[in-house]
Amino acid sequence: MEAPDLWQLPVQQSPLGMAKVGLDGRLLAVNRTFEEMLGRSAVELTSGRFQDITHPDDLHKDTTNFRRALAGEIDSYRVRKRYFHADGHIVWADLSVTLMHRPDGSPQHFVTQILDITEQQVREEQLEAIFEAVRVGLVLIGPDGKYVRMNRRHAEALDVAHPDGHDGRAGLPGQIFAADGRTVLKREELPTYLAMHGEEFDDLTTWVGTDEQNRRAFITSARTVRSPSGERLGAALAYHEITELMRAMKVKDDFVTSMSHELRTPLTSVLGYLEILVDNDELPSSARSQLQVVRRNAMRLQSLVSDLLEIAQFTESGLTLERAQVDVARVAREAAEAARPHAGRAGVDLSSELPERVLALVDEKRIRQVIDNLLSNAVKYSSCGDAVRIALSNCDRELHLEVSDTGMGIAAADLPHVFDRFFRSSCATVQHIPGTGLGLDIAGTIVDAHGGTITVDSALGEGSTFRMRLPLAG
Ligand code: ADP
Repeated sequence: MEAPDLWQLPVQQSPLGMAKVGLDGRLLAVNRTFEEMLGRSAVELTSGRFQDITHPDDLHKDTTNFRRALAGEIDSYRVRKRYFHADGHIVWADLSVTLMHRPDGSPQHFVTQILDITEQQVREEQLEAIFEAVRVGLVLIGPDGKYVRMNRRHAEALDVAHPDGHDGRAGLPGQIFAADGRTVLKREELPTYLAMHGEEFDDLTTWVGTDEQNRRAFITSARTVRSPSGERLGAALAYHEITELMRAMKVKDDFVTSMSHELRTPLTSVLGYLEILVDNDELPSSARSQLQVVRRNAMRLQSLVSDLLEIAQFTESGLTLERAQVDVARVAREAAEAARPHAGRAGVDLSSELPERVLALVDEKRIRQVIDNLLSNAVKYSSCGDAVRIALSNCDRELHLEVSDTGMGIAAADLPHVFDRFFRSSCATVQHIPGTGLGLDIAGTIVDAHGGTITVDSALGEGSTFRMRLPLAG
């Protein structure tokens, strides 16, 4: 088809800017949209060359393609470039340029379609500015696991995690550690690997780097990115740096641990002498009963110190289990018997529903510790006339232990936090019920180490039910 025929199309009506450009770059004809786009009349435009209205920084890529087309290397090309509007501002444009030929094959002129993308470009630049300005490392991974984009912050962290370089793909093991700062993460545990396989998560803590001075801690969130039709396009990850926070927590933990150590020895001595004094018949009974109070409080202090040391030890070197085939029914029975005198004194009815025998591969001392804590809480947060019940059953290669009470219950807002370290419900503090908020944290760690779960159901004023599930085979 002859080129002039094409130009006969209703170019004036086109929503795209259109220009016919001579082989020397002169604008031979332009449509109204292009005039409006640049704020220049057709007369003004056709009296010059496209080079005169193009931003000098974009001229090279445009003229290079222009020359390649004239040299017969290409027939058409696309280019993004900036024009100058008559009032001086920049107009961003996406151009499709086609070289038209005469019937004898010689080049005749170019036909250029011009889409104004200024708005889109401004939006992209704003997003880019935000992308680079946020104090969060951001990375976008394609469906094949390749890194599509990342900001400067993430690139810096990547250098710490991979001092020997990174291949730009998700799931590359490096100097990346779990929250304990020691356990090297395997490929399948890396945030990018998980995200690439469609997992969405929040608050995954990792350390990167080995050098104590320069290593950094992050919490990472990941979300799957989908097209409007739901197709998976990849994953976006955000890395929030928490190095300072982790260091501060470590200083606090070290302080608590060393204080607890310092307190333990004199406390043991105090308790030893108190035992002797309480049993001393030569002391007047009023003094002995006061000493009982001192002893009770010293014992509370001792249990607090041992809880603190236990938590410090879990944090420092994890929890090592000494598993054996244990009859958990017997352990539960013994725990219930041990709790009975205390429940009796508090006027709380303690009942149990325990099978003859339930064997499981567990650390007896640790599981007893969990059951003791659940029972003592159930009694402690109940009043005279309430009931506490412990039940055990097994099914589906799991054991289910339930400790329920008809006591004060837990408010819905407090419920998600009861397993948090040092958490105490508002009711417990308002009513001055003694406690440290460490017992359930320890219980949670123990159950977790056994590969089990511990959950709670509760309603304020109606009571609580704690449920522990453990795999029988360990
Ligand atoms: P502590 O009892 O020493 O405060 P725990 O970690 O054992 O610490 O429990 C954390 C918090 O959970 C308690 O302070 C209390 O507010 C709540 N809680 C635990 N068990 C019960 C229960 N059976 N009934 C009501 N509240 C409970």
